[in-house]
Amino acid sequence: MIEKLPFLAWPRRQTLTTLIFHRVLPAVDPLRPGEPDPARFERLMSFLAENFAVLPLPEAVERLARGALPRRACCITFDDGYADNLTVALPILEKYRLPATVFVATGYLDGGRMFNDAVIDAIARTRGNALDLRELDLGVHPLGTVEAKLAAISALLDRIKFSPPALRDEQVSAIVAATACGPLAADIMLTTAQLKELAGRGVEIGGHTVSHAILTALDDGEAFAEITQGKRRLEAIIGRPVSSFAYPNGKPGRDYAPRHVPMAQAAGFARAVSTAHGVGTAGCDIFQLPRFTPWGRAPLAWATRLQRNARGG
Ligand SMILES: [Zn+2]
Repeated sequence: MIEKLPFLAWPRRQTLTTLIFHRVLPAVDPLRPGEPDPARFERLMSFLAENFAVLPLPEAVERLARGALPRRACCITFDDGYADNLTVALPILEKYRLPATVFVATGYLDGGRMFNDAVIDAIARTRGNALDLRELDLGVHPLGTVEAKLAAISALLDRIKFSPPALRDEQVSAIVAATACGPLAADIMLTTAQLKELAGRGVEIGGHTVSHAILTALDDGEAFAEITQGKRRLEAIIGRPVSSFAYPNGKPGRDYAPRHVPMAQAAGFARAVSTAHGVGTAGCDIFQLPRFTPWGRAPLAWATRLQRNARGG
């Protein structure tokens, strides 16, 4: 049991802390050091249940708008649509009665895989001591240790992250082919049946485009189509309106631009979240709510980081 912490310096003004997760892994994965395993996730959820007022995102934003948020209000969100949000995270959320939102990129449902996962899994499964990608102009990467593999993953993802989607798909296929790792797992992302189950068990489902496109890389027509088609597909699957949106990657000015904010509104969303640090405050733009995730293992470190984030420094 985690004790209540004092939070002596929590600001007096209204603050909405929105946490962002991607996966909760069934077991520790050294090549995904940022993703919690069940024990780490449960410690964090228990800490939140003890110390924060965790609200569903729509209710929290509505209360923020009318100045009626409880102290240390918090929302829990997951991005992209990983199957472990249902199979690993949800039982822990249910144990602590914590509401959550899962933002789903619909193009990866039913056996798809995001490019970053394809690269990580290919490198995880390759047996070679080095990966020669000079033919792709992506260098040579030693792979003899976990540290070397992490460095290779980071270097490759940095190189291909902002490639236009068609080129990026080619680069990923070539990396997978060069690692000769065989077919990659096809059950990383949610299936439509799992998505329905998540919604049926009370998790809010939010839009996250179709292909997880970086909106600033698209023309306006394509960006609006990505935003609206993702929303419609989710609504068709779960049979209810989808009202929250998360900008893919989410950094304002880099991954989305001011022109995409009215697009989310015109698509019929009622609120949207970014990945800028900080907290929602009275009068903030509810179509660009900041999100923040504390790192590290110890609750006291989380408390310190959450408090610093809420104070804006
Ligand atoms: Zn995402």
